[in-house]
Amino acid sequence: MRLCVIGTGYVGLVTGTCFAEMGHRVSCVDVDAAKVARLKAGEPTIYEPGLKELMQNNMRERRLFFTTDLADGLKEAEVCFIAVGTPSTTEGAADISMVLAVADSIGTCIDQYMVVVNKSTVPVGTADKVRAVIQARLQERGLVNVEFDIVSNPEFLKEGAAVEDFMRPERVVVGSDNPRAAERMRELYEPFVRNQNPILLMDIKSAEITKYAANAMLALRISFMNEMAALCEQMGADIAQVRAGIGSDSRIGISFLYAGVGYGGSCFPKDVRELIHVGQAGGLPMDIVAAVDRVNERQKQAFAEKIINFYQGSVAGKKFAVWGLAFKPLTDDMRDAPSIQILRTLSEQGADLVAYDPQATGQAGQIFGPSINISYVEDMMEALTGVDALLLLTEWRQFRRPDFAGMKQRMRQPVIFDGRNQYNPKQMKNMGFVYRCIGRPNG
Ligand code: NAD
Repeated sequence: MRLCVIGTGYVGLVTGTCFAEMGHRVSCVDVDAAKVARLKAGEPTIYEPGLKELMQNNMRERRLFFTTDLADGLKEAEVCFIAVGTPSTTEGAADISMVLAVADSIGTCIDQYMVVVNKSTVPVGTADKVRAVIQARLQERGLVNVEFDIVSNPEFLKEGAAVEDFMRPERVVVGSDNPRAAERMRELYEPFVRNQNPILLMDIKSAEITKYAANAMLALRISFMNEMAALCEQMGADIAQVRAGIGSDSRIGISFLYAGVGYGGSCFPKDVRELIHVGQAGGLPMDIVAAVDRVNERQKQAFAEKIINFYQGSVAGKKFAVWGLAFKPLTDDMRDAPSIQILRTLSEQGADLVAYDPQATGQAGQIFGPSINISYVEDMMEALTGVDALLLLTEWRQFRRPDFAGMKQRMRQPVIFDGRNQYNPKQMKNMGFVYRCIGRPNG
């Protein structure tokens, strides 16, 4: 098929590349000319394992193209995917203005049947708005007979494993009110689903809500564990043992039950807030989801306070190494990363920070600029030279088994604040570290 993907961020670039890999001819469109120039040169604009090779191969095979010209991208396309951002407004609602702007442009370009697919995470009811905008444009152009269908096809890929997730999805959700469009989507996705993993066909509104419900449920598991971890800390219990105890119940399951410094990223925080917003706008209090957000905000602050309290209320003049800035491992994405709030708080209180992250220092530099006391190094051990403590904020695999003896030699004080529970408290104590983590007794 001929496909067009509009927006070449984490979702759009992976979507376009993976469809090309399945043999389709894909045009990827973005308004960001600098981004498109880099992509045209075969340089991915984000870090995702496996993406670069796949992208370059498909460009060589002349199945994957990049352009800033939407009309050109849409030429002869049978299906187009909208994959632009839907950030939070200050009130917490999802801002769908970029989606509607794309719909408007589609309405000014198309002159034959097309399936228009919403891949962006959008509030329930957005498909109707997209349809209305395209219809209005077609009417203005006197093209009332040009048909199109709207499909909601939310994306569930995880950053850090995005290519793998797209190529082997656990499920594909397709919201459609038209058998013709649904059949197109089934044709497109059938090669990706295996091992009985389903393509779930449903109505459009249910598909739109499914994406938010999934993210809110995952965020809930994190906030729940963080709340339990706070209780464990207070009572001298161990959240790791509690996790094993509850996770072995098949009704609960063991995955996604980690206490830490709170969730972040471009999806959970904004999607949780949109769900609260849409519910409350309709008179539903959304009590559970609102608590998930509150607990998460508290968790980030609690970690910074744990560090400040350790130093009797003042970190002024303290020097801290930071391992990990990205909101999770295997990505360069810093959007809403817990590290932002934690490091801002510590810097405001006078701490000096030296950070190492395998991928995210570029984005961190853009976010922090000169606003906080932070420098970046390219070696995790180098960050430790002469510091009062190490703060571990992202669980990159290379932090799992570091050279502890070498670390102690470099650090001014052997103190570790582990926001991701990467080490065993008893072992850390035996090795001579002062070790503070989340919801576990000090070694
Ligand atoms: P992103 O910000 O990385 O990328 C969006 C891209 O769209 C940018 O490159 C931007 O320049 C481009 N764009 C904006 N307006 C445009 C226009 N009019 N025409 C063409 N391009 C335009 O966003 P993302 O992380 O890829 O997320 C996209 C959507 O997918 C969001 O709704 C998000 O919630 C959802 N989503 C994201 C993830 C994720 O892990 N990042 C996962 C699932 C769903």
